[in-house]
Amino acid sequence: MSEPKYQRILLKLSGEALMGPREFGVDPDTVASLTSQIREVHRMGIQVAVVVGGGNIFRGVSNAAAGMVRATADYMGMLATVMNSLSLQDAFEKHEIPTRVLSAFDMRQVAETYTRPRAMHHLKSGRIVIFAAGTGNPFFTTDTAAALRAVEVGADIIMKATKVDGIYTEDPVKNPNAQRIERTSHMNVLEKQLKVMDATAISLCMDNKMPILVFQMTKPGNIVKAVCGEEIGTLVEE
Ligand code: UDP
Repeated sequence: MSEPKYQRILLKLSGEALMGPREFGVDPDTVASLTSQIREVHRMGIQVAVVVGGGNIFRGVSNAAAGMVRATADYMGMLATVMNSLSLQDAFEKHEIPTRVLSAFDMRQVAETYTRPRAMHHLKSGRIVIFAAGTGNPFFTTDTAAALRAVEVGADIIMKATKVDGIYTEDPVKNPNAQRIERTSHMNVLEKQLKVMDATAISLCMDNKMPILVFQMTKPGNIVKAVCGEEIGTLVEE
């Protein structure tokens, strides 16, 4: 097996990544397959932090559009990320991967509260750390939470798992001739409004020189390839 290129990664999974073929919630088979891939990386001695979204359960912005107060809807969205984090923790622990969920807001009976030293301690002790409840603030997304936590814990890279293997010149579903972009810059993503992460997340990564790899995680073996620096997906860097 090739040598790992990164020692500490932050993996960003959307809530939908846990949904599999279902229309809502969490699909245990999908979570099990994600888990065995993550286990491989963990076994390589890589420090792994995870941020998971909540869109498979509740999305603040769409419920605000339907009449809810945005902040309230967003807090519900953050609670949805806690549920997903607990699903992942359960699956990881079943595979004997020691895991801690750190929540951005206090939920003492459910998860530890996030502090940077606590996160660093767990990572250095070989535990997978799942950052739950996003940034803890409404009007943000879990992509921004991923950028923030990656910068805070000094991750080498954010690996953003998507349905397609990277960024394309056009929608590859609509145009089969669309080309995969191998590398691009944060600025280009912002200027061309490429759909990688929202602008707040990209700006935070740009200001802190945090690279982002956009890749397809559903392809078995892809995460190990990504960690070994093989040319998959799209790398967004300075
Ligand atoms: N959210 C929030 N602040 C945060 C992170 C998330 O308010 O820092 C809320 C927001 O309502 C969002 C929901 O949580 O719609 C779920 O997160 P996100 O949409 O990022 O999940 P994903 O699309 O990755 O599944």
